[in-house]
Amino acid sequence: MPRAEGKVAAPFRLRVVGQDNSYAGPGLSICGMPPYDVIVLGSGPAGLTAAIYATRANLKTLVIAGAVAGGQLMITTDVENYPGFPKGVQGPELMELWRQQTVRFGADFVDDNVTKVDLSKSPFRVWTSEGEHEGRSVVIATGANAKYLGLPNEDRLKGRGVSACATCDGFFFKGLDVVVVGGGDTAMEESLYLAKLCKTVTVVHRRHAFRASKIMQDRLFKTPNIKVIWDSEVIDVLGDQRVEGVRIKSVKTAQTTDLKVRGLFLAIGHEPATDVLRDQLRLEKGYIVLRPHDGFSTATSVDGVFAAGDVHDFRYRQAVTAAGFGCMAALDAEKWLQGHE
Ligand code: NAP
Repeated sequence: MPRAEGKVAAPFRLRVVGQDNSYAGPGLSICGMPPYDVIVLGSGPAGLTAAIYATRANLKTLVIAGAVAGGQLMITTDVENYPGFPKGVQGPELMELWRQQTVRFGADFVDDNVTKVDLSKSPFRVWTSEGEHEGRSVVIATGANAKYLGLPNEDRLKGRGVSACATCDGFFFKGLDVVVVGGGDTAMEESLYLAKLCKTVTVVHRRHAFRASKIMQDRLFKTPNIKVIWDSEVIDVLGDQRVEGVRIKSVKTAQTTDLKVRGLFLAIGHEPATDVLRDQLRLEKGYIVLRPHDGFSTATSVDGVFAAGDVHDFRYRQAVTAAGFGCMAALDAEKWLQGHE
């Protein structure tokens, strides 16, 4: 399932949807309302699933969806591994259906970014450019974005051979030659996954040592169709309609070489969307740290605040796992609210 590739869909318009699903018009502020039971930050698979479960539990729910609502699937083309779609589905279409399902149960939406939060006590306060919102509990599902290299032709060839998710896109490169950039655990994992599908995998790393765990490195070195190019950087991706190769530059000699490959996989880390949460709850390397306690699997370091999806999960990073976490976070919030009437 591509997660950040392909055409960019138009963002949803700014709107607030009420219980009657009426369109309240751009710019409407809902300040001054009694606190929501749950405020969900984010409208990708984790956020919308949390909102579906919360609203169906009769909790008054606000989704702060982001200025470009829908999460990473909105900039994705074919989604082939989301259960229930035997012929696959386009990412934006899936998210639109998901949103309709959420609206059906009466969630309110604000299509704007969160600018500030105050999680010091419940009701928690969340600000957007439209105003302030209060929630007795919060589910954070703001996700994480894969980092890209910023190569001259990278953006143009996203979804046409440039990818940041082997599990999602590896299938499209069966029997072909690909390059993976990076030297961390993700690069090892992605390379090992791709090696089972692709003819060859070439890992290009900017230093002469991987930072990945030893066990992952050992597995990589033992895989016959994986080779490593050390001390080198990919400086551009080549191709007109699709990726035909990459240009590599040695950081030691400055010599450049073109390598004929059909795929370029970036595995240089992710950036969790937690900027506005700094100093509000416990983060590690930017990711929210879960503190499962009292039966709340998705609890964060702040009582009454729960997290779901890629914002805490650097391991699985799939739409279906994010949706599962969204469900768990809503159930946790519901149970927590019952104990804090
Ligand atoms: P990471 O550990 O930060 O590694 C990123 C890699 O990309 C590094 O090797 C880095 O090179 C390289 N890199 C970064 N920017 C680059 C650039 N502009 N150009 C070229 N190369 C660049 O990220 P990660 O591999 O995604 O892992 C993130 C965290 O998740 C880690 O703590 C990791 O252990 C964990 N993780 C665990 C598992 C697992 O346990 N199964 C799986 C995946 C991830 P340098 O080494 O030169 O800095």
